[in-house]
Amino acid sequence: MRSSDKKPAVHSDRSFILVDQCPVCSGRSIFAYQKATFDYHHLQPEQISITDKEYGKRWDLSRCRDCGYIFANPHPAPGFLRSLYFAVEDPRYEDEAEGRSQNFVPILNQLEKFHPEKGILFDVGAATGILLNIAEKRGWQTDGIESSLWAVKKAQKKYGLNIRQGDYKTISLKPNSFSAVTMVDFIEHIPSPFEAVQKAVQMLQPGGILCLVTPDVKSLAARVMGKKWWHYRPGHLGYFSQKSLSALLERSGLSLLKKRRYAWTFSLHYILSRFRVLESFLKNPRFSSLCKSIKIKLALGDSLEIYALKGRPS
Ligand SMILES: [Zn+2]
Repeated sequence: MRSSDKKPAVHSDRSFILVDQCPVCSGRSIFAYQKATFDYHHLQPEQISITDKEYGKRWDLSRCRDCGYIFANPHPAPGFLRSLYFAVEDPRYEDEAEGRSQNFVPILNQLEKFHPEKGILFDVGAATGILLNIAEKRGWQTDGIESSLWAVKKAQKKYGLNIRQGDYKTISLKPNSFSAVTMVDFIEHIPSPFEAVQKAVQMLQPGGILCLVTPDVKSLAARVMGKKWWHYRPGHLGYFSQKSLSALLERSGLSLLKKRRYAWTFSLHYILSRFRVLESFLKNPRFSSLCKSIKIKLALGDSLEIYALKGRPS
């Protein structure tokens, strides 16, 4: 980790990798599915922040005939991707900490139903530590990893959390030692989802639970919005459906315990700020603070939330 506060530089080697195999089921029957709608060769960290506004922007996408997984092909090489996420700074994400913490409560409720004895929870892509902070208050021991240096520092300063800064793909984690692993809006940002879940399986204790939340490309919202769907954005390298998620769990040897649709809570301020035409109203400080205090639960149903067990249900 760097010690200076200078903005980290993005890798000068902007190389990309083209694959001929499905990153979920390893099937060889993949085909070019959709053309890119933005120039990813000049990708910048601000385009992949959590609260970016780059809706409708897609990579060159391939699709697997076997499991239906849709993915960026080519995708950024590991060093390039790592340097992009290392440099991400997203103060707007932290502005929404309260609404976001409401998103995480139902996840912890569910995890505690499956695993009442709690234990160590590991959050992959922990961002500024909002989930881990609530988990800690509820009696979990917490651990996690985050690529963005800014987010790791924020978690330390705001919540006193020591989140590891680095790449989940390359860190070494003790096998069979965690009772829960959470990946909330993580798996769609990486090029190798199977390897990521396989690693979670190794680090989980037998009987441990993986919670995974990711957008559903076959959801009603995705179909209605078509090419303008808000999950088509530069940070997203993969698009799951129920079918490809099932293929992922099956190949990883996990047993599905529960699947539901995810409802997000945001402030009215955040929702308005997503639309360029409405954003100007927020320049009025009184209106802006009123909007920040109004929380809205959006049951868009376009993300899948799944809980899977390491082992077989008794
Ligand atoms: Zn596949």
